[in-house]
Amino acid sequence: MGPATGRESLGGVISFDIGHSGQSLRFVAEVLQRFDSNRQTRFWHREAGGLLFARFDLPSIDVCEATGPRPTDRRSRYSYRPDEKAEKAEIDASFSRGLHFVGCWHTHPEDIASPSTIDTRNISDCVRRSQHALNGFVMVIVGRAARPDSMFVSICDRSLVHQLARS
Ligand SMILES: [Zn+2]
Repeated sequence: MGPATGRESLGGVISFDIGHSGQSLRFVAEVLQRFDSNRQTRFWHREAGGLLFARFDLPSIDVCEATGPRPTDRRSRYSYRPDEKAEKAEIDASFSRGLHFVGCWHTHPEDIASPSTIDTRNISDCVRRSQHALNGFVMVIVGRAARPDSMFVSICDRSLVHQLARS
């Protein structure tokens, strides 16, 4: 991006630096809208989540699709368990369209999201089981406050969750 373009340019894209790699993780407006429309702003709202798919336009990794929530997910105010068969089908369908499965997202009933111990454990399981092009696994948690400040965006490896800072 040139100097004339801001963080929310290109139709509302939000960008995060991936450590010191020189790469950035960008979320397109449609994906951000899906996060927004599932924020748990009322006490009866349940956790929602889904998968994230990206196009690689290095040094940018553009998260251009987010799936979920699905009617078959198991959801409560403080928990979210995805329909794993549906997830598998989404990964297969996206791969045939040239999209890379890069991670997952879910909501939390807290203003500024942060991962629970269960999230950290689950994500290391995902990383161990998954095979994909990215050197890590993206985990996004969507809080109740306005984005992007309420969003927890991270790249996870087998043992650590690295929170990303906005570009
Ligand atoms: Zn969580």
